[in-house]
Amino acid sequence: MACLYLVATPIGNLGDISPRALETLAAADFIAAEDTRVTRRLLMHFGIDKPVVSYYEFNKERSGEAILARLLAGESCALVSDAGTPAVSDPGEPLVRLCVAHGIQVTAIPGPCAAICALTLSGLDTSRFLFEGFLPTDKKRLEERLTCLTRHTCTFILYEAPHRLLRTLEALASCLGSQRRIAVCRELTKLHEEVLRLTLGEAVAHFTQREPRGEFVLVLEGGVPPKEAPFWEAMSVQEHIAHYEQQGHTRMEAVKQTAKDRGVPKNEIYMQTLR
Ligand code: SAM
Repeated sequence: MACLYLVATPIGNLGDISPRALETLAAADFIAAEDTRVTRRLLMHFGIDKPVVSYYEFNKERSGEAILARLLAGESCALVSDAGTPAVSDPGEPLVRLCVAHGIQVTAIPGPCAAICALTLSGLDTSRFLFEGFLPTDKKRLEERLTCLTRHTCTFILYEAPHRLLRTLEALASCLGSQRRIAVCRELTKLHEEVLRLTLGEAVAHFTQREPRGEFVLVLEGGVPPKEAPFWEAMSVQEHIAHYEQQGHTRMEAVKQTAKDRGVPKNEIYMQTLR
């Protein structure tokens, strides 16, 4: 039946492939892969022999149309990326859109995703989080993105290549402060898996001494939301009291409430009204 299956594949440990992923890869009419060599190795490991077509960043328009034509003719396609979940910082999103627009059924075979794996290992707040993917390499766009990051009050997740890791940590430390907590998650599910739970300042020091190797996900603590100024901040003590009096409070009640708001003894407020 015509269907696009988004099949998640391991991000390192081949034991993480699900039985349903294997069944789907074996049953699909053809497989669309980001890198056909990587996928053929995976298929060979699991004894699956299927036609594989290339679908990646630089052929996604032409290849997307060809895949759609086959789907419209009634074939089924399993889409895989090099590792993890297709369409998460990987090719897939435009193909999903194309299929949706043409009424082709799209379904997911969920599984490994480096971002979620890192988030759960981070030890940081997982109740609200944001996925930022890779930061831009272009200087201007990077600055804009970093400015946005300073506003995040929830945990956020970044992908980064090893050769850019130190630069990125330095940039994050300078915009978010060296005390901000980070979990640097390396080589997840692989032999050299490592999760460093540090401050940004410590992370910069660590990778200044040790060359980053392998694949990395960075999970950052959200910022503290700026405190809203109290409504009375710009008011004088007299105006503050008058505010409560206008709401129907007696003078004494207004003095008491003003003192409470300002965190000072009510006598002090009372003395000020006399002055
Ligand atoms: N679609 C994939 C997913 O679901 O995780 C992500 C693909 S993205 C092109 C590749 C990036 O994911 C790497 O540069 C790295 O930041 C992160 N990544 C992938 N596998 C990883 C692993 N085993 N350990 C740490 N990070 C990993």
